[in-house]
Formats: sequence, structure tokens, C-alpha cells
Amino acid sequence: MSEDSVTAVREAAEGLTRRISRDYWLKCARENRFPTELWEGMAETGLLGVSVPEEYGGSGGGLSELMVLNEITARAGIISLFFVLGSFARMPIIRHGSAEQIRRFVTPTATGEAKMCFGVTEPNAGTNTFRLQTTARRTDTGWLVNGSKVFITGARDADSMLLIARTSPFDPERPRGGLSLFILDARTPGIEFQRLNIEVLGESQYLVFFKDAALPADALIGQEGQGMKYLFDGLNTERLVLASMAVGLGNRALDKAVAYTRERAPFGQPIGSYQGLQHPMARAKTQLEAARLMMNEAARIFDGGGDAGPLANMAKLLASEACEQAVDIALQAHGGYGFDQDYDVVTLWPFARLMRVAPVNNEMILNYIGEHVLGLPRSY
Ligand SMILES: Cc1cc2nc3c(=O)[nH]c(=O)nc-3n(C[C@H](O)[C@H](O)[C@H](O)COP(=O)(O)OP(=O)(O)OC[C@H]3O[C@@H](n4cnc5c(N)ncnc54)[C@H](O)[C@@H]3O)c2cc1C
Repeated sequence: MSEDSVTAVREAAEGLTRRISRDYWLKCARENRFPTELWEGMAETGLLGVSVPEEYGGSGGGLSELMVLNEITARAGIISLFFVLGSFARMPIIRHGSAEQIRRFVTPTATGEAKMCFGVTEPNAGTNTFRLQTTARRTDTGWLVNGSKVFITGARDADSMLLIARTSPFDPERPRGGLSLFILDARTPGIEFQRLNIEVLGESQYLVFFKDAALPADALIGQEGQGMKYLFDGLNTERLVLASMAVGLGNRALDKAVAYTRERAPFGQPIGSYQGLQHPMARAKTQLEAARLMMNEAARIFDGGGDAGPLANMAKLLASEACEQAVDIALQAHGGYGFDQDYDVVTLWPFARLMRVAPVNNEMILNYIGEHVLGLPRSY
């Protein structure tokens, strides 16, 4: 990280949010339309390439730049889960893929020519990624994939998919083994999509079926059986980017609450002067700032090559809870209008609440802290 590159991303993101409005984003979400103008704006300003090294056609930077970008866009109410998940998906390819895989699949995502989705969650395995059932079987020409993935954000609009699949049977002695990572053309014959009715505004989620989908031999990333290891490399990044979005969205909710409660005065005094509203707003602000301090410290440790796991997990926990509290008090402060979609407060709630569940639920975060920070026995 350099101060200059973080500042450059901040300025580009602020410029983008002046050009692309929350109204445009909401309209696309409600019409189930891909936000093309947002995507093109991110491509033109180099924001799509943040965290992709310059030698691969990206804008460079790393975690700190991704965090700043996502916090600013979330505060403006523009949340691209697709971008966030795509930025996680391309990370293992940059780190472990071949030069050809990076050229073919990563570089176009940095320039805006192509989009990548993230195919990990399965209907039966859920949080327990070790028990994935989708299989990739070796053939004379490559791999044959069978199985299904669920909740895959943006699968309909994606050109490629990062996929984790089982290449050898589950072995309880080596639960992380037997899983491999693939990068594939999302339009490969044998791949079908079914849209889910998810109550979170933004890009849609899909059930994805693989029925004898034939992949070329070079779809495998790195070594066979190392998929979990490659995926786990990015977990701290995932938690901190999520935390930055939660801090951004929580502050958006508070901005709205403060503006509204300064003006609204059914008893003559602005309702923002009542402690019943003011104190919870002050508390939510304090918790958002605590989360921000922790996530920045975790990012500093991460960028310095240290073990950011404990603070990254704690920051995700704090930020997701603080965001939910901020949206909750914003709803309370708006009274009945909070539930009017035109006031755009209740519309923040599903995403704020989602962050306690995905991409990793807070119980798993607490499990991590219990086991790896407190040294307690594994609880599950
Ligand atoms: C809007 C949205 C977008 C998503 N996008 C993607 C995507 O693009 N790609 C992708 O791969 N996935 C995606 N996901 C999936 C998301 O990451 C999963 O929903 C999540 O990992 C949890 O899996 P599950 O829903 O099967 O929950 P389950 O595993 O069934 O867990 C349900 C609940 O049980 C509890 N629980 C589970 N395990 C434990 C445990 N060990 N200890 C304590 N409590 C536990 C938690 O409270 C958890 O919320 C998305 C989900 C949503 C809703």
C-alpha cells in the first residue's frame, strides 16, 4: 500500500459516486438489469482493476485500496456484490494460476471486457466447504464437471467462473484435501442457471447446475487437490473488504438518520434532540468507528506480511453488527417513513442484515476467535 495509491482510489471512487447515482443503481436492481453504466464507469476510471497488478493490466494496489473503494461506494449506496466477489475470485488465479490463465481470465476483468463470478457455495455443504459434492473427473481431454452451486452472484452476466470442485473423495484424515480450483468459461455447454428470489437489492443470485460440463485440461488452477489452500489464502481479504462495505453502508444509514432527525419535529423540537434517538445514533457511530479502526489495523498488519487473521475476523464481526445497528436506528428515526421505499431506508436493511450471514456467517467468525484467539476446543 502507498498513501498515493489509496488517495488515487479514494478520489476515483468519489468521482464515480458523483457520476453514478444511487437512483440509477436502484433502478437496475429493481428491473433485474445489469448496471452497465456503473461497470463502464469503474472500467474507465481503473477501479475495476484495483488489486490486479499493473503487469496484468490492472491498476495495482491491494487490500487497502479495495477497502477504500468499497467503503466509499457503499456509503453512496452503490454496492456491487458482483465486483466484490469477482475481486475475491481472481485473487487465487493471480497468485497460483498460469500466465495464460491470468491473461485470458483476469486481465479482461480489470479492463471491463469480461466478468467473473465465484462458484463456491453448494446446496448441501453450505458453510462446510470441506463437504462439497460437485465433482471434476479427469478425462482424456480435460475434466468433466457434475453437481450444483447455489447463491452464485451474477452467474447470468458472468463470462467466467472460479469453481471449486472435488477431484478425489472426501478423506476425514485430510478434510482440506481432494478439492481443486478451476477457472472456466461460464457458457460451457452443460452449465445451466436458475435465478433465485433473493431479497437483497443488486445483482441476482443463481442456482448453477453442471451436467457433464467438459472443461479443458488447462482449466485447473495450480496443483490438483490444493483448491482449499488457494481459496483460504484470500479469507482475510474477504473479511476486511466486507467490513469496509459494512462501515460504508452503516454510515450511509446514519447520514440519512441525522439529516432526517434534524428537520422532523412533530412536537416542535427536532426529534434528533431526543436522547432516545440521539444516543443510539451516537452508539452506532462509535461502533462503526471502532470497526474502522480495527479493520485499518488489520489491513496494516496484512500489508506488512503479518498474521491479520484475529483482527480481520474481529473487524468483520464488529462492522457487520455496527452496520445493522445503524440501519436499525435509521429505520426507527424515520418512523413510518422508514418503511416507505421512496425514503430508501428500509431498502438498506436486507444488505445490512446479509453481512452477518455472508460471505461467512458471524458464528463461524466467533468459532475462529474462540478457537484461534482464545485457544478453546473447536465447537463444531
Ligand atoms: C445475496 C447472497 C450472495 C451470495 N453470493 C455468493 C457467491 O457469489 N458465491 C458463493 O459461492 N456463495 C455466495 N453466497 C453464499 C453464502 O456465502 C452462503 O449463504 C453462506 O456461506 C452460508 O451458507 P448457507 O447459506 O448454506 O448456510 P448454512 O451453512 O446452512 O448455515 C446456516 C446458519 O447456521 C449457522 N451455522 C452454520 N455452521 C455453523 C457452525 N459451524 N457453527 C455455528 N453456527 C453455524 C449460521 O448461523 C448460519 O447462518 C451468497 C449468499 C447470499 C445470500
